[in-house]
Amino acid sequence: MVCLDFTEEQINRYSRQIVLPEVGGTGQKRINEGRVLIIGTGGLGSPAAFYLAAAGVGTIGIIDYDVVDLSNLQRQILHTTKDIGRPKVDSAKEKLIALNPDCNIVSYRERLTARNIKEIIKDYDVVVDGADNFATRFVANDACVMANKVFVHGGVLGFAGQTFTIVPGKGPCLRCILREPPPYGSVPTCAQAGVLGVLAGTIGLIQATEVLKYLLGKGDLLVGRLLAYDALEMKFREVRVKKDPACPVCGDNPSITELVEYDLTACAEYKNGGAVKMCVFTVNGLEVEIDEDGFIIDPGCWNEDVARAFAEAEGIKELNDEHWRVINYLRDHYQQFQVAPMISKLCKETGFSLKHIYELFPSGPAKGACKVAGLPKPRGCV
Ligand code: ZN
Repeated sequence: MVCLDFTEEQINRYSRQIVLPEVGGTGQKRINEGRVLIIGTGGLGSPAAFYLAAAGVGTIGIIDYDVVDLSNLQRQILHTTKDIGRPKVDSAKEKLIALNPDCNIVSYRERLTARNIKEIIKDYDVVVDGADNFATRFVANDACVMANKVFVHGGVLGFAGQTFTIVPGKGPCLRCILREPPPYGSVPTCAQAGVLGVLAGTIGLIQATEVLKYLLGKGDLLVGRLLAYDALEMKFREVRVKKDPACPVCGDNPSITELVEYDLTACAEYKNGGAVKMCVFTVNGLEVEIDEDGFIIDPGCWNEDVARAFAEAEGIKELNDEHWRVINYLRDHYQQFQVAPMISKLCKETGFSLKHIYELFPSGPAKGACKVAGLPKPRGCV
């Protein structure tokens, strides 16, 4: 029996959602008793935390080591111009309490690592992924699976974003799809490649929606469903993702039983056996593809292994300097449609086929290159 002892002010504050049959007094109480940890108070964490506080989530943990920078303000809406130079958690806490003094905001001015995460997440029901790097994201995924906490993943870059929800025991985790963090440097950061500010808002709010649904126990969560959003085309795509029994964390015989700390630079040394399997959660989340094994293929992950797989498909035994020149060019420019004529030219020079380039860069410039070269549209091209 839930005790519905709301104050008059609370009834008034939450009246627009209490009136919803899916929420009601009992649902509001669940939200009020919810404990949510938000990793980062940046582009995703800001909108997620703001709305969760507005909805009345009782305890919101925010963890961020950074200080507010002018370049953050285009999307990190918890911070204002006068906050520049302040610790982000202080700035965030102030805004969240100002919005809803009912919320208990617990701030951690530190980096989330394999060393501290267990201790921190034990007090929360749900963890929201607003991390700006893969090392933190993987540590969080593993820790949440091990501690049986719901983990709502989100990622944005450029005009594309994606999100999905990990409920341990019920669906896949990040490692079911992507075994290891991508090699350092293979995926550009928002600082390098840019991000549309409002896109972070869209994805962050989908994450917040998932949190509320989970707390309420209503609706269908994005479990086993990766939702990819393309802001330019204004399209959402859903990709089914299967739980992998061989997953090193949530599989039948997990090989990762202790948290692994990824040094971001060490990731550069990482060599992947099944290159294609790791091509996910990267830049153009909107155009994710799945290979025969049920793995999603994304064009953003372009490393030596992928290059060799590509060469094999092309029937090239040894990649020479000229091939590498093309590969490196593609890696650096595949997001830019305006380079299509150059790619078409490089392909002609080296004998690479646009078909294979398209397979590896489905949302990249190959489509445009085909047009420039007067070739038919590649198979599966939308
Ligand atoms: Zn898994």
